[in-house]
Formats: sequence, C-alpha cells, structure tokens
Amino acid sequence: MVIEDDPNCQEILQNVLEESYNITVVGNTQEALLLLMDAPTTYSLILLELELPDDACIEFLKQRSAQSFLQNIPVIVITGEGDDNGCYKLGADEFIRKPLNSPDVILARCEHTMALYESKNLVQQTEKDKLTGLYTIDYFFEYLKQIMPLDMGSDRDAIVIDIEHFRLINEIYGRGVGDQILSQIGNYLQQTLATLNAIACRAGADVFYVYCIHQENYGDLQEALQSMLAKVAKVNNIRIRIGVWQYVERNLDPESWFDRAKNACDRIGGNFTNSIAFYNSGLHSKHLREERLIRDIYDAIEHKDLKVYYQPKYAIQGDKPHLRSAEALIRWIHPSLGFINPGDFIPLFESNGLIQMVDNYVWNEAAAQIRRWKDEFDFTVPVSVNVSRIDIYDPELENKFCNILEQNKLTPNEYMIEITESAYSDNAQGLIDVLNSMRSKGFHIEMDDFGTGYSSLGMLTELPIDILKIDMSFVRNMEKHEKNKRMVELIIDIAKFLKVPCVAEGVETESQLQTLKRMGCDVIQGYYFSKPVPPEEFVKFIEKEKSLWTK
Ligand code: C2E
Ligand code: CA
Ligand code: CA
Repeated sequence: MVIEDDPNCQEILQNVLEESYNITVVGNTQEALLLLMDAPTTYSLILLELELPDDACIEFLKQRSAQSFLQNIPVIVITGEGDDNGCYKLGADEFIRKPLNSPDVILARCEHTMALYESKNLVQQTEKDKLTGLYTIDYFFEYLKQIMPLDMGSDRDAIVIDIEHFRLINEIYGRGVGDQILSQIGNYLQQTLATLNAIACRAGADVFYVYCIHQENYGDLQEALQSMLAKVAKVNNIRIRIGVWQYVERNLDPESWFDRAKNACDRIGGNFTNSIAFYNSGLHSKHLREERLIRDIYDAIEHKDLKVYYQPKYAIQGDKPHLRSAEALIRWIHPSLGFINPGDFIPLFESNGLIQMVDNYVWNEAAAQIRRWKDEFDFTVPVSVNVSRIDIYDPELENKFCNILEQNKLTPNEYMIEITESAYSDNAQGLIDVLNSMRSKGFHIEMDDFGTGYSSLGMLTELPIDILKIDMSFVRNMEKHEKNKRMVELIIDIAKFLKVPCVAEGVETESQLQTLKRMGCDVIQGYYFSKPVPPEEFVKFIEKEKSLWTK
C-alpha cells in the first residue's frame, strides 16, 4: 500500500513496484486505515509519505503502535532530503529518501523489509506459547544456550513451578478456567521476571521453568501464585509446588539444571506443610547414583552381576525344625560400586518399569536353581520369588511363569509367588483376577508384609492367598510392645480363619521362635536360621535336612 498525496511520487512508485507486486495507492491515511482495518492480512508493506498535511504521517505511526492488527505490517517512510533521522523513533522500519530516482534502491529496500518481517513473525510464532505469552520450552533452552557464554557474572537459580492436580481444575471447572489460571500465571511471571532478571517458559501443560538471579527465598513467589489460584478455583488440594536448584553449575546443560530442580519438586511429599524444595548435594549424589544404576542395569543382567540369594524357611511345629522352602532375594554385585542391597534399587526400578526385566531374570534363575538342586540332591526346595506390584500389569505374567516351569520341568508346587499386601490396594480387582487365574494353574500365592497394607477384613476372604507372611516389624517388636504381640496373634488367627499356613519373617532369636511356636505360627524365616546366602552356601541346609531323614 502506498500512502502518498503527491501525484508525481504516486506515479513513480506505481511504475517501480507494479511489475513485482499488487499495489494499492491512496492519497491520505484515513482511507488507508479503512482499507487496512477491512483486510489487514492483504498488505505486506506500507510505503508512507512523511510530509502529509496535518502531521498525518506521525498520527498514523502512533496509531500503528497501538493497534495490533497494524503491527505485523512493516512501514517504510518516504522522506524529503535530509530529514530521515526521526523516522525510526516514530516506529518506521525503514526509509526511502526523495528524489525517487533510483528504482533499484526502492525495490531492494521494499524486499529487504518484507523479508525481515516474515522471519520475525515466524520466530514469534515458535518462540512464544500462545496461552501464557511465555517462551516455548524449545526456544527457552535454545536461548539459554545462546546467552550462557555472555552470562558468567552473578549466581543463578533454576526453578520449576508445578501445579499439583491441575487436571482437577479442568475436570471440575472446565478447560476455560484452567486456561485462565495458566494465562494468569504467565502474566504474573512476566511481570515479576523483570525484577528477578529472569526468563521463563511454559515447559508442559501445567509446568513452568524460570531461570533467574539467585534468591534465598521463594516463599513469596509460592504464596503469590497460590493465592492467585485460590481466587479462581476453590479446590483445596491444588497447590503450587516449587523445586529449585540454587547456584546452577554453568558447565552443565541447561536441561540438566531443570532436571535437578524438577527432581527436587518431585520429592515434595503429599503433605501440605511444605511446597518448596531445594535440590541439595545429598539429593544430587542420590540422583547421580540412580542415573548410574539405571544405566548399568542392562550390563548387570548381561554379565550376571545380579545374584540371587536364598533364605531358608523352616517349619517349626514338629519337635525339630524342618527345611520347608526358601525365598529368592536379589543382590547386585556391582563391578565398581560393590554390594548393593535390593532396597537401594528395587523401588527405583519400580518407579521406571525396569523392575520387570530384573524380576524376569530372578524368576528364571530361581527356577533353574530349584532344578539343579533337584537333580543333584534328589530334593526339592520350593522357592518363592517376589512379584512386584508393577509386574501385575504385565498381560504375559501368567504365561511367563508357565513357560519358566515348563523349561525347567517343575510343577507349581515347587515354585511360589510372593506379593506384598500393599499391592492389593493399588488395583485390587486387577490383582485378584490375575492371581485367581494363576491359582487355577496350581500356583501358590504368599501374601508378603501382611499387616502393613491396610486390607480390609471383609476383603481378605475374597483374596486369592495360600500363605500369610507376617510383616517383620511386628515380629521385631513383639517382645517389647504388647500391641505388636497382639498383632502377631491376630494375624495368626486370621491365617487360621482363612485356613492357610502362616510364616513369620525377621525372626532373629530363640525366644522369638519359641513365642511364635506357642502362638501357633507354622513357618519361620529369619537370621535365627540364616541370612539370605548364595546358592553354593545354601547347599549345607539341604545336606543337613537330608541327614535328618536318614537318622
Ligand atoms: P521382603 O520380600 O520382605 O524380603 C525380606 C527381607 O528381610 C529381605 O531383605 C531379607 O534379607 C530381610 N530379612 C530376612 N530375615 C531377616 C532378619 O531376621 N532380620 C532382618 N533385619 N532382616 C531380615 P532384602 O533381601 O534386603 O530385600 C528387601 C526387599 O527387596 C524385599 O523385602 C523385597 O520387597 C525386595 N526384593 C528383594 N528381591 C527382590 C526381587 O527379586 N524382586 C522384587 N520385586 N523385589 C525384591
Ligand atoms: Ca518377599
Ligand atoms: Ca516381607
């Protein structure tokens, strides 16, 4: 669009440009505005005469900076000789000086200005999140990497802001309210950013990352965001959680700064007393160790660094204890970290699904071990393996166990399954279905850690269980606290009621054993008889048991 009142200039511009572009020529800014308002996207460039009557050019440029529909169209001002300086200040993007006697210069300036605008618009679309006006995560990291070499001065923090249970807001109030909250948070962060010398992005649906000058305290930020949330949505279990990595190490990738802040954020527990967490070096080394274990587990399986140990279980109701069975318990003998107990890696692998691979390994090893003992001693030690709550979701679970038995020519009587009581509360019906089906194939199910998992008494009668294992914590404190002793008696009664045998775990002393025997407990597992031992060592229990027979 050419806005020009001088017919001579109109004609020159028309001649220069019409070969390459569609031109609209108007004589004043009112007419121009009407056309632009009507169809702003039709125009890709405005050529504007500076010396229109009544300072119309300056008025037009002012209007343009106030109207968003005009801001995406670049403006080149046509100036008289020598008075081009003020144009940029007024918001012009470029100028062309009169006399208009160089068509090449005019064409080149027009082309150049339009090309610049196109790329700027493109960048704007990819750099900003539409809803919040904050950077997108890709652009954010790109930007951080670019400014990092220039930003070596003061200490910086990486912050992750997370709205817990945000999904509930969408469900209860509808998406519109959810969007409103997100955009308010975006606004608030943008306003606050200037004072924190920060940049921020929307990193996920309800997650924001902020990179700013180091602060000691983030309580104010948390409270401000929380009260903003409270104004819009009155759901009381939705809170703003903030994870911070203070003093980021600049030699690391920006992504890992925020991984650490996120890690701190994820560790904020379910209680509402604390909503801000700082990544500290303790967490840091824990995090690094976990990363290492995740990386190394594949090698461990390949190189057989995972060892299955066996702990004997003894039937105690006769005059002499008899070896009844064993539990398979995994250990990791790591080439550089040394001996690692399952407590240090099982929960980690449960949280990321790797547990299935680990458990499959143990299940196969244990079955092969039963077979070897059977062949060598003509003696079956039924072994129970641990099944994680995560394994239950594997649709192939039952097939896997059937195959393992088949490959090792074992019967389900020789191979048992332990599953912790608390798994029943995750997904009761799913678990009941899976276990019922396995029981119909002859498998025996032991309910582990019984007394810690809040099964309701009503439910117990429906659970597919063949053996109850009393949790160690009750046995340990049985002689100290009457309450624990009562609990053990109660569990033994429940087992009797359900007509299943009862195992006590964690038995360390003779007197614990005698007490349990008196109470009617059937089987004992614990350091009193033995710690879990490698299979070579377990042989002595088999030999001892066989020698009892021949007496
Ligand atoms: P759990 O299944 O309850 O296993 C019993 C734990 O108690 C074992 O710890 C065992 O060594 C320990 N223990 C046995 N008797 C005594 C005693 O008299 N005193 C004391 N203080 N402790 C005793 P461990 O081997 O460290 O295993 C810990 C947990 O790791 C297991 O608890 C189980 O939940 C899990 N786990 C072990 N191996 C596997 C596995 O192959 N797969 C899965 N999914 N979990 C496993
Ligand atoms: Ca167990
Ligand atoms: Ca247990």
